[in-house]
Amino acid sequence: MTYVSRPLLYLDVDGPLNPYAAQPERRPPGYTTLRVTLGPDRSALSGRTLRVWLAPWHGPALLDLGYELYWATTWMADANRWIAPVLGLPELPYVDFGDALLSERPDGVHWKTAALVDHAAGRPFAWVDDEQSALDGEYVAGHHPAPALLHHVSPRLGLRPADFETLAEWSTDARDAAT
Ligand SMILES: [Mg+2]
Repeated sequence: MTYVSRPLLYLDVDGPLNPYAAQPERRPPGYTTLRVTLGPDRSALSGRTLRVWLAPWHGPALLDLGYELYWATTWMADANRWIAPVLGLPELPYVDFGDALLSERPDGVHWKTAALVDHAAGRPFAWVDDEQSALDGEYVAGHHPAPALLHHVSPRLGLRPADFETLAEWSTDARDAAT
């Protein structure tokens, strides 16, 4: 029997889990409201009070997908403190973006992309975010030898059942390709 490890899933918060661009006065159905004031020394969002919409069903749906989950978000460690409990997720490892955090690149590749490719270190991964572009797909194709799925989610809509179907199918395909 060949042991095949699970693909990685890099998970953004604002956009996929928190549909921040939905109509501001109308919380989407199925979502709950969280107000978060981050301390002065925490992540790129320090000192701001944020209104976050979260759908509790997202947590179990993510755990069911068969991926190894990682936060890939400006929230970094704060995602475990604020986001994970509302979704019923365990504490997850997060990608530490270091100096790349929110720093724009002259080539237009997203500031997360190279860090995620480095972190994946040749393992198949899916990246769920609201900000990838074609440039990120090209970067990943040129720098990552294994399968990768850059799955875009509208920040007006957040993750919907069809996104989970796509991610579940891709996980299965990535494992089949590795055997
Ligand atoms: Mg985002």
